Amino acid sequence: MPKFDLKTIVFMSMLLTFMLSMLLAITRKHHKKVHGPGYWAVGNLVIGLGMVLVLMQLDAPKRIFLPGMALIGAGLSLYINGIQAFIGKIPNHRIPVVVFFLLMAIDAYFMLNGSDIRMAVILGAIIFAAIYLYCARLTFSRDEGIVGNLFWIASSLYLLMALLMLGRAVYASQVDVGVFDSFAAWPVNAYTFMLGAVSQFFISSLFVLMLSYKLSQNLESIATIDSLTGVLNRRGLEEAALKMQDICKRINLSMAVLLIDIDHFKKVNDQYGHLCGDDVLRHLAKEIAGVLRSSDVLGRYGGEEFCIFLPNTTEGDAVGLAERIRARIEASPLKMNRATIKTTVSIGVADSVRAGYDFKGLVATADSAMYAAKNSGRNRVMSYTQITRDTKQSS
Ligand code: GH3
Ligand code: MG
Ligand code: MG
Repeated sequence: MPKFDLKTIVFMSMLLTFMLSMLLAITRKHHKKVHGPGYWAVGNLVIGLGMVLVLMQLDAPKRIFLPGMALIGAGLSLYINGIQAFIGKIPNHRIPVVVFFLLMAIDAYFMLNGSDIRMAVILGAIIFAAIYLYCARLTFSRDEGIVGNLFWIASSLYLLMALLMLGRAVYASQVDVGVFDSFAAWPVNAYTFMLGAVSQFFISSLFVLMLSYKLSQNLESIATIDSLTGVLNRRGLEEAALKMQDICKRINLSMAVLLIDIDHFKKVNDQYGHLCGDDVLRHLAKEIAGVLRSSDVLGRYGGEEFCIFLPNTTEGDAVGLAERIRARIEASPLKMNRATIKTTVSIGVADSVRAGYDFKGLVATADSAMYAAKNSGRNRVMSYTQITRDTKQSS
């Protein structure tokens, strides 16, 4: 095993830790809504300060009381708080305080009570192992996709660090007690510091990566979700419909579309105000979503128009679903404090067999069926087949 110079290692680790702290503080400043980086920034700062203290005492000829180690433990525990905040738990602020005083107490007790420093080293290693183990537990199997993979790597690294700390404890129980005489002289201390700093740096980078990925995911969903109703907006709808169209076309499945327009919605706004109108839109989105399957795609197409794309569905089946939606909306008015707002909808139906797969063509066809439904009295469902039959009959 190569022999490392503890002083150089602690110095490098300290610089690395302060740099990390700065990086995380900047991240915290720019993403105030994401919780975690603030704790990590402070945690690294505390660890860095702990290292400064350790560095100052390294030249001591005899093993002395090392408050720096307690600070490093507290800093790592602040990391736990950061992970808790990051994954949406309430950070337990007692952990860093308890760890700090426990490490101080252990070191002080064994320094004051004779020379058996071995026990202090073992207990210290066990406490650090527990911190790492808890971090591994917190980061274990979180999320899916790339964030899930990053969590998995972090969890494995934490587990590895916990095992190394336990290894340190076991090793400390075996070696000759003389090695503890000076902190700098025991080579295991240099290894521990180096691996601790490297893993800390690596895991922090993982968290920063996760953070930026989560933020880009948020931005993407903001761009495709309608903020009022929570269903897809026009852009999201178009993207989803294009994907569906590709798949259905390739394996020769039909797809259908429903265009839903609220009847006399202007009157609702006029009578109850725009805010109540918004409540009605939210209510209807929920009611409609309640009858759909997970593969169906619901979006808000325009002001008070909803659009649904249905894979592997023919016009006949789509008319059946449209009728269920129409009846459900008619039967479930929105109950407000003072009033009950009753609404009905007119629905136009089209499918790819008759209108082709093209997004615009499908929607335009469903739109003309919807207008026919309006013209024939509202609160009804009309399909493209019906309107073409009706025009043929009337001509
Ligand atoms: P019909 O469709 O039955 O012919 O009558 P309508 O009264 O619904 O007619 P139209 O489609 O012309 O009017 C749509 C109204 O929807 C006009 C607009 O004030 C309202 N609207 C559009 N977007 C919103 C919204 O986000 N919130 C609210 N409260 N109202 C909206
Ligand atoms: Mg309209
Ligand atoms: Mg309308």
